[in-house]
Amino acid sequence: MNVVVCVKQIPDPAAPAALDPQTHTLVREGKLIMDDSDAYGVEMGLQLADEAGGGEVTLVSMAPAGETSGLRTALAMGAAKAILVSDDALKGSDALSTAKVLAKAIERVQPDLVIAATESTDGYTGTTPVQVAELLGLPAITFAKKVSVGDGRVRVDRQTEAGYDEVESPLPAVVTVTAGVVEPRYPSFKGIMAAKSKPVEQLTVADLGLDASQVGAAGSRQEVTEVVPADERGAGEIVVDEGDGHEHVVRFLEQLKLV
Ligand SMILES: Cc1cc2nc3c(=O)[nH]c(=O)nc-3n(C[C@H](O)[C@H](O)[C@H](O)COP(=O)(O)OP(=O)(O)OC[C@H]3O[C@@H](n4cnc5c(N)ncnc54)[C@H](O)[C@@H]3O)c2cc1C
Repeated sequence: MNVVVCVKQIPDPAAPAALDPQTHTLVREGKLIMDDSDAYGVEMGLQLADEAGGGEVTLVSMAPAGETSGLRTALAMGAAKAILVSDDALKGSDALSTAKVLAKAIERVQPDLVIAATESTDGYTGTTPVQVAELLGLPAITFAKKVSVGDGRVRVDRQTEAGYDEVESPLPAVVTVTAGVVEPRYPSFKGIMAAKSKPVEQLTVADLGLDASQVGAAGSRQEVTEVVPADERGAGEIVVDEGDGHEHVVRFLEQLKLV
């Protein structure tokens, strides 16, 4: 069974993030890493291909400046190959433009199953995978906490507020997984060495048969009109308990409308 896993490469969350006041976009200079959310998708894809007794995992990513660092991590986990779409024309792409690019790249692989995370940890619109499904004309199952494949169908325990629903659909399909669907493996030394020589096909917008006007800022319908730094965390309030500490706690919780 051939699985495509969408892997978003993002600025390292451990480093301070910066917003460009002119373009209102995230500064994406330097090394990008695989979004932690996508490690679950990669592991799920590897396990499903293993259980099916054959096939492979192909990674698909759209990222600036030919960045492959995050893809190499996923290749080190065991994915067979990757497709990276990188092009200056993609600057300012919104979620739908991104979905158009990912869908075109996925079409080249003709997979049995497409896996993505429920939402990324930097943009977190949670809309890209379902847009990809719509563009490819495939069914989409979101919020998967358990996934199995057999008899040409995918079966999913779909997380809900009350518990989970059992959902299934014919393959091919797009499934978005939640953190915890499986435990991602750590790349082994052997895996890291092998990843260095695994194929990463680099494509431009034109290679995908898309016009520059359909993607990037030109093709986007979302516009970020303003960005402001988040408020600095305040010093907090110290309450000395003189027998009435519990009343302070209750008042504080009431202010937050938590009780
Ligand atoms: C103002 C603005 C400027 C942008 N500029 C650029 C740019 O210069 N260059 C650029 O490459 N992108 C750019 N983007 C695209 C952006 O980084 C996201 O890929 C896109 O907007 C998806 O949004 P999200 O993170 O909310 O995805 P979500 O819908 O939250 O993502 C869910 C899942 O979909 C998959 N996914 C999402 N995005 C990607 C991706 N890019 N590659 C592979 N899988 C993915 C992942 O599995 C992810 O966990 C820009 C976006 C905006 C809004």
